[in-house]
Amino acid sequence: MKTATRAAGRLVEAILAAILPADCLLCEQTLPWRQEGGVCPPCWERLPWAPGYRPRRGVLDALLWAADYDGPIRSLVHGLKFADMDALAPALGRRMASRLGPIIFGHRTDLIVPVPLHFWRRFRRGYNQAELLARAIARPAGLPLDIRAVRRRRAGRRQLGLSRLERRRSLAGCFAARPSRVRGRTILLVDDVVTTGATLEACARVLLHAGARRVVGCVLARTPKNM
Ligand SMILES: [Zn+2]
Repeated sequence: MKTATRAAGRLVEAILAAILPADCLLCEQTLPWRQEGGVCPPCWERLPWAPGYRPRRGVLDALLWAADYDGPIRSLVHGLKFADMDALAPALGRRMASRLGPIIFGHRTDLIVPVPLHFWRRFRRGYNQAELLARAIARPAGLPLDIRAVRRRRAGRRQLGLSRLERRRSLAGCFAARPSRVRGRTILLVDDVVTTGATLEACARVLLHAGARRVVGCVLARTPKNM
């Protein structure tokens, strides 16, 4: 019943959105006719991309990021996570891919895998933002995408506010990887934001255990100082 009400609510929102002019998610000016993902062209132009990468010791070979988790990037990630802004993800993902393309190529990855959401959370949100970003990266990179290589078995606790050790503990046993899909592959593991890296590391651990050769983490945004 709740789902039906929510679906009806979404339908009404979709109809209203089609009739009424909407505002840019970032500058709140009325959106022009030509716009992408609810953001106006000048705001897309002004996004403070800051791509980079850092080699790591441990289960992740390296971490790549397209921006810092701050300012307008932070607002867009919030839109993706909490405001049903799934139209935003392909537009963001394409731009993320164009910034990271050469770095991704340099790591010789041969399979793109998104960090999974628990099926119930995915069902309620209607999409997995990491999967939408991974899809947008896979296309221009010409790499295969496998959204079922890793599965989330438990939803896990909310990660916000937990220490690094607490995060690691709460994630133990959360993920399972399918050996037939990942054996011998060098995997680009995609997520929206990295804070301590505990989620990426938990996924990388099961991927390596299932026979993956190497795992490289790739995120839209990293919280400064933590990684
Ligand atoms: Zn704008």
